[in-house]
Order: sequence, then structure tokens, then C-alpha cells
Amino acid sequence: MSSIERGQVVAVIGAGTMGAGIAQVAAQAGHEVLVFDAVEGAARAGVDRVAKGLDRLVDRQKIDALRRDEIMSHMRPVNGLSALAPAALVIEAVVEILAVKQQIFKDLEEVCGTETILATNTSSLSVTAIGAALERPGRFVGMHFFNPPAIMKLVEIVSGAATEKAIAETVFATAAAWGKKPVYAKSTPGFIVNRVARPFYAEALRVYEEQGADIATIDTIMREAGGFRMGPFQLMDLIGNDVNYSVTKSVYEAFYGDPRFLPSHVQEDMVAAGYLGRKSGRGFYDYGGAAAEPMAATAAPAPSPQKITVNEPLGVLAPLKAMAETAGIAVEVGSADGEPGTIIVDGVHLSLSDGFTATEIGDRLDVPNWVVVDLALDYANTNRIGLACADQADENALRAASGFFQALGKDVSVIDDIPGLIVMRTVAMLANEGADAVMRGVCDAPAVDTAMCSGVNYPLGPLAWAERVGLAHIENVMSALAISYGDARYRCSPLISRKVVAGGSFF
Ligand code: NAD
Repeated sequence: MSSIERGQVVAVIGAGTMGAGIAQVAAQAGHEVLVFDAVEGAARAGVDRVAKGLDRLVDRQKIDALRRDEIMSHMRPVNGLSALAPAALVIEAVVEILAVKQQIFKDLEEVCGTETILATNTSSLSVTAIGAALERPGRFVGMHFFNPPAIMKLVEIVSGAATEKAIAETVFATAAAWGKKPVYAKSTPGFIVNRVARPFYAEALRVYEEQGADIATIDTIMREAGGFRMGPFQLMDLIGNDVNYSVTKSVYEAFYGDPRFLPSHVQEDMVAAGYLGRKSGRGFYDYGGAAAEPMAATAAPAPSPQKITVNEPLGVLAPLKAMAETAGIAVEVGSADGEPGTIIVDGVHLSLSDGFTATEIGDRLDVPNWVVVDLALDYANTNRIGLACADQADENALRAASGFFQALGKDVSVIDDIPGLIVMRTVAMLANEGADAVMRGVCDAPAVDTAMCSGVNYPLGPLAWAERVGLAHIENVMSALAISYGDARYRCSPLISRKVVAGGSFF
């Protein structure tokens, strides 16, 4: 599989946020880049924005002036579509309207040679549907960059029903030659990232809706325990609630109302109120200068236990044992009839969230003092732990559990006793969505993880993370959520269940 060559011309149509950045990427790779925009002066303005961005890099000594001049010498604004005739690859990044894109590609088929590859940067339209208007749909493909294109590594190479394999391969190799991380995807709603990422927002909204925790606490737990760069509410405010809500709504509709993608009334209400996020000065957070930054709920200091009892295997909680020893807490091995996977602190049982509430687990096992611990990316290094206590527990249970984690140097956020807590349910749902995409042939498993790490900066791919937790555990979390909510939204992907039975891996 070979990329288009360095000496070949690349054209970009639409010189807005995405188009200008894509043109820069191609120019940096040494191609002659022609930039066209329907609005007079917009192509020049787009090229000028790139020049300004490169000037800043020169000021910060990231590149030298020679390199800037070299990149800029490759970029040329042009006045008409007909000027794009010499292009070997044309990438379209205009307004997200099917008919507009179809017309552009029909016109391009007249202008360009039969060997030219035509690509769209659409994020939500069907690549198959755009290509259906063309004489040569086999040479048409999706090339979905992420914002800002010059920085974000991911490019989803999206094949429509008619896209020829060799064309997708050439565009894949070209993106790789441009320093990007391409992944193959089939033209399905949301492709990979915009589909698999939905639960990141949706589960946070659900936790908030059912008063599991406040917004600042959810965000802080997702950042500090989950290792995500931004909390879901911060990210929705950054993206814009209007944009994020409309992507969710369009994916939901595209999947014919599958409850996995159900939009949230809380977010709809934010949009209705005009609380769009950073751009409107108010979203889930207030961006007015005087507003105090909301703080995560953090448990008051509690005494450290003298000893704990451990019932192995602890699974992902295992690092806590060594940390307890280092903190000077005596660690006893539990008795043969102890409940596996539990840590007992002053008579209080702690276990990793399995999707059921502490209230249900304690009731089932007849141990009233039960506490469930939320998932963390890295228990050894996280500085915050989320946990929830059974409703029937006595008043000391939370203090005992908090005191234990505080003795290990961690802040504790107490969450209401909701199924799956916060990080665990989010990661289970992300992995479940990724598995579903794999099962339906949208992409392969490595592509899911690459897409989520390179496209939206997840700290670990959802499928690798699910394997780290244990696929059987993730399956349990999904079934517990499904039972607790009686909602088909939480049905476990059959592919996860198959891997559990066969003992297989996604990789
Ligand atoms: P934008 O509004 O910033 O830029 C679009 C540009 O296209 C404008 O300069 C406009 O004048 C020009 N244009 C409109 N109709 C045209 C036509 N018929 N011919 C030539 N030029 C035309 O939009 P954007 O955010 O850069 O998005 C462009 C495309 O990229 C959309 O398909 C969008 O879904 C997709 N996309 C956007 C993002 C993002 O974060 N903004 C990320 C990935 C993909």
C-alpha cells in the first residue's frame, strides 16, 4: 500500500477551522497544496491563519523561520474549483450539508482526472450517501481529521459502500506518511470516535440526573481517578452543549432510537437556557470572572486503621495491599470462607464496584457494612478514590473506608450508592460500545483503542482497559446495570460475552 507521493498536488476545499489545518498538515508533508473556498477572500484568510500559527511556533522556537517559509511556500489559495485540476487528492471540509458536499464532488469529477482521489472530512454524514451522487464512487473516501488537525493525530479513514479497498489503503498510507495515526472505519453513524465516546458524556449526565454526585465531583473523579484529561462536563462546556447535544441526538436518530444513545434532558435544558458552555460564558460551569471554582466533595479526615484483612484475589485493587503495608497498616490474610475480592477495614467490607449497589451486595451477603469502590486507572498513583456505602450500614462504615484510603494518601469522594458508580460504569459502557463496533465490523479492536487515545486523548483504550479490569468483571457490571435499571441501554455486547466464555482477548 503506497501513499500519494510527495511531489503530487493536494487540494483542500473549505478554508475554515478544519480545512486550513488540513492544508497545513499536507504542506508540512511537502505537498503543493491548493486551497479553495466559496467565500471570496476566505481561502487567503485561511492560509494567513496558518502563517500566523507558524509565526507563533517560530516565536516559541518550536520551528525555525526557514521551515515556516518552506511550509508556507507550499500553500496557495485559488479562486475557482477548476484550479484544482492538477490535484491527486482533494480533501473537502465545507459546511456539513449533504447536498452541498455532493454537488462539490460532482463538479470535481468534471474538473479532475479519473485518477484523482476525492475525500471528505465529514464528521456526521454518510460517506456512502455522499459517494452515491458520483460517477466514480470507488475513488471516494472519508478522511476524518480531528480538531485541531495540525495537532490531533487521529484520522479515521472511512469507507462507504462503494469505496475501493485500494483507495482507502492509499489514503491510509498518505495520512500515516503525514505523521498521523490513521484507522480504518466503515461508514456508520459516528464512525468510531463519535460513537464510542457517547457514554463518556451520557453516563456522567445520568449520574448527575439521578443525584449520584454533583458536577464538580463527577468531573474530578473522572480526571483524578479515571485519568481522563478533562471531566465530561468540562468537555461538554468546551465543545458547546449545543454541538455535543446535537451530535448525540443525530447518533441516536441514526441508530433508530437505540437506548444506548438516548440524549439527556439535562443537556437539552442547558441548550434551551442558552447555557452553551465556555462560548456563552455559562454552561455546566459559570465562566463569569467572579464565580468561585466549584470543588469536588471530599470526605473529612478519618482515623487510619491499624490493620486490614484481605480476601484474595483483589484483581485491579491489588496494589492497595502493598500500599497498606507501606503505610504501616498490618495486612492479614482472610479466612477460607471470606468473600473473595474484599478488603475488611474495622468490620467494613470494601469491594470493587461490580455494577450492583453496596446496599444490594450487603443485603445479599448479609453484611450490612458494605462499601463499593469506584474504578481507578491506576490505584497506586491516583490521588482520589470514589466510593459508596450501603444504605443499611452503620455510621462508622464510611469513616472506616475513608480513613483507609486517606492513610494511603488519597482524597475520598463519597458518591451516592448508585449502580456502577462513576468511572466503572463509564469505562464499562465505553468498552461495550467499542466491542459492539468491532462485532458489527465497523473497525477492528486496535482501531477502537487507537481512535479513542489519539482522537480524544483517553488515558487507555477502552478495550485494553476492559481487559485490565477483566472482561468477566465488565460483563458483570453490564448485567448488573441492566438488572438495576431494567434498560436495554445496558445490554452487554455479545462479543464481550463470547470472549469471556472462550477466554479470548480483543488483541
Ligand atoms: P467552518 O465553518 O469553519 O469552515 C467551512 C468553510 O467552508 C467556510 O470557510 C466556508 O466558507 C466554506 N464553504 C462552505 N460552502 C462551500 C462550498 N460550497 N464550496 C467551498 N467552500 C465552502 O467548518 P469546519 O468546522 O471547518 O467544518 C468543515 C467540515 O469538517 C464539516 O464537514 C465538519 O463536519 C467537519 N469537521 C469539523 C470538525 C470541527 O471540530 N470543527 C472536526 C472534524 C470534522
